[in-house]
Amino acid sequence: MDLRYSDADEAFRAELRSWLARSLAELPSPPGRDDWPARVRYDTDWQRRLFDAGYAGINWPKAYGGRDASPSEQLVFHEETTRAKAPYVGVNFVGTLHAGPTLVAEGSEAQKSAHLPKILRGDEVWCQCFSEPDAGSDLAGLTTRAVRDGDDYVVTGRKTWCSFGHVGEFGELLVRTDPDVPKHRGITWLILPMGLPGIEVRPIETLLGSSEFCEVFLDEVRVPVANRIGDENDGWRVTNVTLSFERGTAFVSEMVDALRLAEELAPSVHDVAERRELAHVIAELDALWSLTKRNVSQAGRTGVPGPGAMMLKLGYSEARDRLGELSMRVLERGILDVHDEIVEERLRTLSLPIAAGTSQIQRNIIGERLLGLPKEQRWA
Ligand SMILES: Cc1cc2nc3c(=O)[nH]c(=O)nc-3n(C[C@H](O)[C@H](O)[C@H](O)COP(=O)(O)OP(=O)(O)OC[C@H]3O[C@@H](n4cnc5c(N)ncnc54)[C@H](O)[C@@H]3O)c2cc1C
Repeated sequence: MDLRYSDADEAFRAELRSWLARSLAELPSPPGRDDWPARVRYDTDWQRRLFDAGYAGINWPKAYGGRDASPSEQLVFHEETTRAKAPYVGVNFVGTLHAGPTLVAEGSEAQKSAHLPKILRGDEVWCQCFSEPDAGSDLAGLTTRAVRDGDDYVVTGRKTWCSFGHVGEFGELLVRTDPDVPKHRGITWLILPMGLPGIEVRPIETLLGSSEFCEVFLDEVRVPVANRIGDENDGWRVTNVTLSFERGTAFVSEMVDALRLAEELAPSVHDVAERRELAHVIAELDALWSLTKRNVSQAGRTGVPGPGAMMLKLGYSEARDRLGELSMRVLERGILDVHDEIVEERLRTLSLPIAAGTSQIQRNIIGERLLGLPKEQRWA
């Protein structure tokens, strides 16, 4: 793709910038961290404003309420909303950034019509029920069972680390539908209505003191077969589509935000070695922004972000982790006075090299699948 912005892109930027200035001035103050009903209202209200103004689902098909913008307009959208400090997708991170895109790529017509417009209007909040106590890095080792019974799957098992599970109305659910085949071939991807009988959601408190993480217990939950994305036992392929959005394009706004934070930190960093460190982080984030352009462009052409997703997730989470650590060092010397933001940022950045697949796993995937290096020894 041509990485320069055209006159039409700049016109789109100007129009968006003035809409953002007007709309952000009308917004109430953000609610407290633990006031979940207010957080849901605030985040979904912003989503609704985007929808009403024609900016929701910037790259989603128009038929489902999206804008179907060109890749360069998508990038302009992320640059402008982040620089204007517009509200983040918040509680509907999963719905807007990877469940919706998975439905666009893999869902049936009925599934797309039922969910996509509602996600974009802020009427439907999603969460992800992938990880299990013994299946995180080894996600394909999941044991939550689904047994077919007529028009339903009867699902029993336990999921963990489900972000926003307590406010999600639908979940991306991975289940084992065939325990007798190699593990990657017996998995199915289901849409889980979180209000079904037999589901219990228990919040987990994080290091930050917040409680957006949840455990989800499933006891003979009847999930309609019509909620299956893709074929039975074809869930690993669909999972990789979800993960490519989660790793490849879901971090785009955060990346622009990290660049802003790094630039804001610069005047407070006086030590020569630390200035060099900061310059490395900024250069790396800048390079990752170019990789993002490539991923967004590839997603525009093929429907999915492709292998650049793994590189992006690894590079972004490691660079942001270093930025958080450097900010704390500067803070400890009393040069910065925005304590809460920096400390909170540091605690959050600690989790980034774990979320959406750890850095070690990304390195394995990049080494083995992208670069064709010899496989690591498997012990199990
Ligand atoms: C902020 C955040 C949000 C999350 N949100 C969700 C969510 O919404 N839904 C969801 O389902 N999950 C979510 N997760 C869970 C996340 O996907 C897992 O934590 C992650 O995949 C790691 O799995 P684990 O925690 O079980 O660690 P483990 O798999 O137990 O790994 C422990 C350590 O061993 C290392 N390791 C494991 N296997 C290998 C190997 N083969 N080679 C080298 N090193 C290895 C890992 O890198 C890690 O350092 C979230 C996690 C975080 C931190």
